Amino acid sequence: MIKNLRLTQRQLIEAKIQLNDHLVEFNNDTVFFVAIYLTCRITAYKSGKVIFQGNDAEQVSQRFAYLDATDSLESAGSDEVGTGDYFGPVIVCACAIAPEHHDLISRLGVADSKIIADEKILVIGATLIKHLPHSILILGNRKYNEVRINNNLNQIKAKLHNRAFLNLQHKMRTLPKLVVIDQFTPEKNYFAYLSQEPVIFSDLIFATKAESKYPAVACASIIARFVFLQEFEKMNAKYNFYFPKGAGIAVDKAIIEFNQLYPHDLENVAKIHFKNTTKALKENRQ
Ligand code: MG
Repeated sequence: MIKNLRLTQRQLIEAKIQLNDHLVEFNNDTVFFVAIYLTCRITAYKSGKVIFQGNDAEQVSQRFAYLDATDSLESAGSDEVGTGDYFGPVIVCACAIAPEHHDLISRLGVADSKIIADEKILVIGATLIKHLPHSILILGNRKYNEVRINNNLNQIKAKLHNRAFLNLQHKMRTLPKLVVIDQFTPEKNYFAYLSQEPVIFSDLIFATKAESKYPAVACASIIARFVFLQEFEKMNAKYNFYFPKGAGIAVDKAIIEFNQLYPHDLENVAKIHFKNTTKALKENRQ
């Protein structure tokens, strides 16, 4: 697979810094740098053209795609974490970036939080949270299970994103012109879900895979994941129990174990409506 990007000279330098540990030798006067990252070969030409080749070309080029979106330097974005994890809360973060944060964002190697390892999220997230204006909402499991009875997941998300933007707006007094939401439902549905809300923040751009296109969304996604990891640690410590992430077999096993240790606490740590609950507890009874 081959992917292309066109970057400015400054962005080329930033990309080179980010790929510092993956640079390889080359012998070509028109080339600025060559790097191998995952299975992707990245050739950056002095002209600004960057070619990504290999199986991971799509994924790796997306990591740098935000450098291409030069007019999004002053912007706000939101993203959520935890909706696919059986254990743990749902976190939504909205944050804003300005041109003065751009160096920091480049230096940290901000990218889609899904492709950054947890250890790195803990470092980058701690820094971003210190420097960027942000609003974080934590929907704990007990409350989640309560609201889930009368709201579908997208409705819950819509209300949280809306509130996160309103909080951020309150904090900053005014939000940047470009405000992007990582789209989880079409625009029409998003606003339909909010029809009962007293105040609606509506000056939004909806974008899918926004975390790889808009640095503000990438930052929001990292901060949300950072808070999610912290909350997970708190849960592990509180129950002296290792909660697996995701919703796979390890989770099913953990449900059985946890339920034996704490028969009244599952709704405080889990998203009960997931199929895992009935599956694990039913199998355990047999
Ligand atoms: Mg998202």
